[in-house]
Amino acid sequence: MGKKNFGPGDLAQFKKCPECFARLPMNATQCTSCGQKLGEVDQFGMAKKPFNWYGYGSAIILWILFAFFVWWAFLKVK
Ligand SMILES: [Zn+2]
Repeated sequence: MGKKNFGPGDLAQFKKCPECFARLPMNATQCTSCGQKLGEVDQFGMAKKPFNWYGYGSAIILWILFAFFVWWAFLKVK
């Protein structure tokens, strides 16, 4: 009957930047408008931000250093 099915593939022609909502081609890995790194696309066509291992690791190391400094500082006072 010529019925057209609109699957996810029909909708996912573009990915949207999570920072500035710019429309970008599906194979884009970085936003051409704001420079945001782009990862996988969700069901709404919105690109996900790729997981930043470097930033995550740096934050953990800083927290460990901070905790160590607090521990050391209190030990030093005694
Ligand atoms: Zn952007």
